Amino acid sequence: MSNLDTHPEETVCRTAADDHVAVLFTPRDVPLGGLRGIHVDRLLPQRGLPTVGAWCFLDVFGPNHTQMSVLPHPHTGLQTVTWPFAGEIHHRDSVGSDVLVRPGQLNLMTGGHGVAHSEISPNGGDLVHGLQLWVALPADKAGMAPAFEQHVDLPTYANGGVTGTVFAGTLGDAESPATVHTPLIGADLRVAGPPATIPLRPDFEHAVLAIDHPVVVSGTEVPPGRLLYLGTGRADIMLSAPSPARAVLLGGEPFADELVMWWNFVGRSHDEIAAARADWEAEGHPRFGVVHGHGGARIPAPELPNVRLTPRRHGHRT
Ligand code: MN
Repeated sequence: MSNLDTHPEETVCRTAADDHVAVLFTPRDVPLGGLRGIHVDRLLPQRGLPTVGAWCFLDVFGPNHTQMSVLPHPHTGLQTVTWPFAGEIHHRDSVGSDVLVRPGQLNLMTGGHGVAHSEISPNGGDLVHGLQLWVALPADKAGMAPAFEQHVDLPTYANGGVTGTVFAGTLGDAESPATVHTPLIGADLRVAGPPATIPLRPDFEHAVLAIDHPVVVSGTEVPPGRLLYLGTGRADIMLSAPSPARAVLLGGEPFADELVMWWNFVGRSHDEIAAARADWEAEGHPRFGVVHGHGGARIPAPELPNVRLTPRRHGHRT
């Protein structure tokens, strides 16, 4: 997924993650352009909530009968996590990957110093629904070599009426094999039946996204499409749902670094972002390599804004 938002907001937030809060966040509708005009609901980053742990970007795409067609575009300083709920996505990248990802499977691409990829629905008109997440890399890994891994066999979490798949990190006894570089959790849960207590790491901050039906998180109802930010300091949460529901749990150690996020780049300074943009615009620059199969078609970088990009600071702000 390419971020086509050319006017990222600057946000200045308190630096400490909040203890034990419960704040609902609403997505904003972002057009991704292209012939079929796909829209996404963007939950992260947003004013007042730049990150949850190292999770620095969260889009819900669909459910729509459409064709995702995201031509080659670059990434730096982050990992992309593609998690389909429905439909297949054909992923190709500049480290040579050429794979389909299906529901229940994880595509994890590490941008590091620089990577390019495309994501296209193989069958136009199929139901397309899923998550696109980014994980910010810590400073000592931000310039690492790019990489790609796909996991088709992920561990299952089960606890009373809550079952699900852990796609990143560890929940209970379920440990995802996905390579991540800061402590975090990402789990796709089905909530049904009586309330179940889900263990959390108190040093993490967490958030729960309701997908299709309301989910009740320790007494707070989360309507579908909304993200409940829970802060740090919780050893567990209680999950229940009036009718069977899907919810995504995200969390991680509050991310220490201030990030500059612009377009598809995550960095720590304006100059770093401007250099990445210039390298992508120098078509064929070895930094981003080649995504085969597109005949040179690519998404050009937007113009940089006329102001120096400044970091989004951390901690949620109401
Ligand atoms: Mn992308």
